[in-house]
Amino acid sequence: MENSIEKSVLYVVATPIGNLKDVTYRAVEVLSHVDHIAAEDTRHSARLLKQYQIHTPCTALHEHNERQVAHSIIEKIHQGETWALISDAGTPVVSDPGYFLIKEARIQGVKIVPLPGPNAAIAALSASGMPSDRFVFEGFLPAKSTARQKHLQALAVESRTMLFYESPHRVLASLQDMLTAFGGERPMVFARELTKTYETIRQDSIAQILKWVESDTQQLKGEMVLIVAGADKGPAGSLGHADEVLSLLLAELPVKQAAHLASQITGVKKNELYQKALAMKSSKS
Ligand code: SAM
Repeated sequence: MENSIEKSVLYVVATPIGNLKDVTYRAVEVLSHVDHIAAEDTRHSARLLKQYQIHTPCTALHEHNERQVAHSIIEKIHQGETWALISDAGTPVVSDPGYFLIKEARIQGVKIVPLPGPNAAIAALSASGMPSDRFVFEGFLPAKSTARQKHLQALAVESRTMLFYESPHRVLASLQDMLTAFGGERPMVFARELTKTYETIRQDSIAQILKWVESDTQQLKGEMVLIVAGADKGPAGSLGHADEVLSLLLAELPVKQAAHLASQITGVKKNELYQKALAMKSSKS
């Protein structure tokens, strides 16, 4: 295979999210031939590099040192070196370090070349059976319960499929908050340990998924993506439709007026919409 590595370039290289065979030929080639690799955790990446006999020197670039390390990487690239950025798993920068480096490198005229590959959210979506013509990537929800509930409440009227990253110690709390914000009947997909031995992909209502996860603590282990169906806009006069009307009016009008008008337009009770409007407003403040 011809080696087509460019000089003075920063490659952004996606790596596997579990199964080491999910690396691309091009990723192996680039990681083998660049002068240096910036890795989120050099010990973690050592496993991948060893598997493919890649002996390129590595430097750690993580959230705590990114600003400092980024400047020295950019300087070295300007001096003629070629670097690759990888994270512990999947596509760098997507809920992973690297944003500052890429932003600065671009400002300073460095050529940046992406090597596409694994990403947990997209892998989960591709197997979910959820509408994928439009979707929103929400990343990790806020860790604090009040902020998380507000955030989810604001998403109650989102009609696109929603993708969330989640960690084992917070998944139960997030599912409970999703049940409150979206209602127990809303369809969702729970995708855990993708590409790994215990890969599990289950579609059900939020209420049923919560019940299942509560009763089978194995499901709390490993890494997971939660996919939630968008709000059903529903026919005129339905609550889904009223939410949408209310949300649009709230962008222009005070709470009381928006609730009053939304009630006249949709036929849903004014007081019900007033309460919803208050929740939507506070979730945005
Ligand atoms: N940059 C990564 C990507 O491209 O997917 C995401 C990194 S983020 C720090 C880690 C989160 O991604 C996990 O908490 C989980 O939500 C999701 N994730 C990563 N690997 C996964 C896997 N094998 N199965 C399910 N979710 C995974």
